[in-house]
Amino acid sequence: MSEQCPQKYKLQYIDKVETEIEESIEAYLGIRVHETLEKLYRDLGYQKVNTLDELLEFFHSEWKKNWDDSIVIVKEEYGPENYLKMAEKYVTDYYNRYRPFNQGKTIALEERILIDLDDAGEYKLQGYIDRVMETEEGYYEVHDYKTNSRLPLPEYLETDRQLALYAIGIKERYPGVKDVKLVWHFLAFDKEVDSTRSDEELKALKKDVIALIEKIESDEKFEANPSTLCDWCEFKPICRQWSHLYMIKEKPENEYLADSGLKLVDRYAELKAKEKQVTLDIYAELEKIEEALIAFAGKENIDMVFGSKHKIRIKESERYSFPSKNSSDRKQLVQILKDLGKWDEVVQLDTSALNKIIQEKQWDKRSLDVLEQYVTLEKSRRLYLSKIKNSS
Ligand code: SF4
Repeated sequence: MSEQCPQKYKLQYIDKVETEIEESIEAYLGIRVHETLEKLYRDLGYQKVNTLDELLEFFHSEWKKNWDDSIVIVKEEYGPENYLKMAEKYVTDYYNRYRPFNQGKTIALEERILIDLDDAGEYKLQGYIDRVMETEEGYYEVHDYKTNSRLPLPEYLETDRQLALYAIGIKERYPGVKDVKLVWHFLAFDKEVDSTRSDEELKALKKDVIALIEKIESDEKFEANPSTLCDWCEFKPICRQWSHLYMIKEKPENEYLADSGLKLVDRYAELKAKEKQVTLDIYAELEKIEEALIAFAGKENIDMVFGSKHKIRIKESERYSFPSKNSSDRKQLVQILKDLGKWDEVVQLDTSALNKIIQEKQWDKRSLDVLEQYVTLEKSRRLYLSKIKNSS
């Protein structure tokens, strides 16, 4: 989560800010589907095979029992009934695909798992696994039900950390286990995706996660990273990125329009729009005049044209253009310059790259300390104007 939004991480885990959490419909749907599939497998352990109707009856009664009108539906064009039908379909498709559920032996359901990342026990994580299954061949499978309405790309799953970390936890808890397969059920697509990780990959993952934890712990700014995910963030009303919106929304209409911040933004946007139009008009006219001046100078066979207080000199020049930045020709050119021993004469220090390296602490501390002797931190503020979603 820290990678997604460091500020959210700080509010949740460091400041431990309590919020009146508004549950999203997506989270509600996820919980209801998970508990229905949990019931299916739990009952199987007691030799009770639910029919689809029985399972859907359970699902409907839990949906109704737990429903609360404060559940947030961000996508305003859909109502609770759409989400209910979606969830019903997820359960039905799953049921029909895996009936009679004899793909293996369920070892654990909604299991809390602890993951030791280092031998010293300094770095530990915990998680909850939807279902652990043992196959006839003695392999273990970590099953995870996903109710997202987007199917991730295969390369995302190849690098997904969550299930791979669970595999580490399973190997630690059941030392005799042959191997662990990771299985994602993308319920919205009635699709199962499997993957495995070698011991080397799991070892590398532990190292990466420790490095990530250290990076998070050394973060001093915890900057906000606003994105579409903010709509599902429980800290949105108190987050500095959004709190003004909540402030003005709560005001009556006459006070709302008198808010100083609102007035400033509206005026700023108005002037920026005018600036854009004026700039476009000026550029268009300048271009026409430049063309006319060149034509005039050519016709009169002169290089300088005089006005009442100004003069314009028309100078012809030549400039070479080079292959674009990421093209293969550019790579070849760089290599040739290096081979010719001329690279040092044309290479320049990339200060934007250095800026990013320092900001994101990409290098080790020693190198960063050396660098910092040559840099000064200049603070500035920039304004980014954009449209509010759903406003015309
Ligand atoms: S609302 Fe957005 S920017 Fe603010 S803490 Fe939550 S995720 Fe981060």
